[in-house]
Amino acid sequence: MSVDPSPPKQRLSLKGARSAPAPAVLPWPVLVVDDDPQVHLMTRVLLRDFEFQGRPFEIISAHSVAEAHAALHAHPDLPVVLLDVVMETPDAGLAVARYVREELGNHRLRIILRTGQPGEAPERQVMIDYDINDYRAKTELTAQKLFTALVAALRSWTHIDTIERLNATLEARVAERTRELEEARAFAERLVEMLPSPVWFKDDGGRYRLYNRAFRDFFAIGETCWHGKTSGETLGTSEAATDAQLMAGETDRLDMETTLADATGMPRALMVSKAVLRLADNSPHGIIGVATDITERKALERELRRLATIDPLTGAFNRRHFMAEATQEMERAVRYGNGLSVIMLDIDLFKRVNDTHGHAMGDEVLRKVVEVCRANLREVDVFGRLGGEEFAALLPETTLAGAALLAERLRRAINEIRVPLAAGDLRITASLGIAEREADEPSFDHMLHRADQALYRAKQAGRDRVEQASSRG
Ligand code: GH3
Ligand code: MG
Ligand code: MG
Repeated sequence: MSVDPSPPKQRLSLKGARSAPAPAVLPWPVLVVDDDPQVHLMTRVLLRDFEFQGRPFEIISAHSVAEAHAALHAHPDLPVVLLDVVMETPDAGLAVARYVREELGNHRLRIILRTGQPGEAPERQVMIDYDINDYRAKTELTAQKLFTALVAALRSWTHIDTIERLNATLEARVAERTRELEEARAFAERLVEMLPSPVWFKDDGGRYRLYNRAFRDFFAIGETCWHGKTSGETLGTSEAATDAQLMAGETDRLDMETTLADATGMPRALMVSKAVLRLADNSPHGIIGVATDITERKALERELRRLATIDPLTGAFNRRHFMAEATQEMERAVRYGNGLSVIMLDIDLFKRVNDTHGHAMGDEVLRKVVEVCRANLREVDVFGRLGGEEFAALLPETTLAGAALLAERLRRAINEIRVPLAAGDLRITASLGIAEREADEPSFDHMLHRADQALYRAKQAGRDRVEQASSRG
């Protein structure tokens, strides 16, 4: 046995109570403008039982031009009006039609003119000017004919409405997209303008189309000074070759170092990067350039390289750089069979200078020795501080005899150094050893070692003298 707790009728009513009310069916509003109350009544009666697309008709009545205006304002989305021609004036209906099209700018509202007599039909031009969509004699309007006229009008109104809505959506989208593009453009322009490096754009004819503040500052030019001009007309330098290379598609980007005078005439080292700007169809549109001022960096690099080669106390080459230069000179001498000699020089009893007069005085003596040696050497000679108070001079295309003469000259010049002191001048001496490259000398180190041994002998023999290396060390 089955138990049904609720009878079918109750269930039905319960279901009905719970479900949301069916959405109200909006009727088609139809404005009837006519000074004859009978027409309103008749229209209402005729259309009572008709529906179009499941929607019934709702008659809105206006009996004069003034009431018609009021109704049009109250219902701006009216799809159709049944309009009497003759009311308070013979063309009152046409005045309403003009009002709709010209004053309200409403071109969607379908206008069906109705007239009592065929003789009242308006001119054809008026029908066109006011966009009258249909024309019926009142006598013609049976229920069936009225319905057909209204359906045609409603269909046409619906189409126009759909198209206008679509248009409005598209226009809104276009406006939105335009705004986005404008924002992106404004952002890009601002960014380019703010960049600390000069940035420019040239069109496919090599003419400047855009450049930023850093660019204008660099050349001290105004906002539009160079617009439409080529680099040949402005800088006097033609970049035509590299630009053409890019435009021809040989490469998409070029990086190069160049030197250009800035607004003050100062030459600046620039790292220039250029790239092709391509359109959506990949055709070259122009060239974007960015320049980075690397003048300071270049100067710093040069200074670093210089600092890496010299001894900061005396300004002579340091040991590493002297050895590198000497090795190269040795290779050259071997290749061309040129003569090459070397002098090693060591200050005598230098420790005593430091001990007696202080380290600063020792430094002063070292600087004086370097000064004196340089004054006596040629441009091609390589002079370096090998360590402490020990120096070496490499003499290209010089025989042992020539080296001996020069060494002797250096020894005497050092003898003549006078460093003023409170208790009379400080005087110094140095010992020197010389060696000449031998035909089968295996390396520069070997030759230097022989000179060092000669120097040792000079020390042994009592200092302040020059000794020559014997053959084969
Ligand atoms: P010798 O005649 O045998 O060469 O005796 P020396 O005293 O000159 O030789 P030694 O090698 O015993 O002493 C070298 C001294 O040079 C010791 C060191 O303190 C000093 N010296 C090395 N480099 C510098 C420097 O840059 N400045 C100063 N003031 N002294 C230095
Ligand atoms: Mg010494
Ligand atoms: Mg020494």
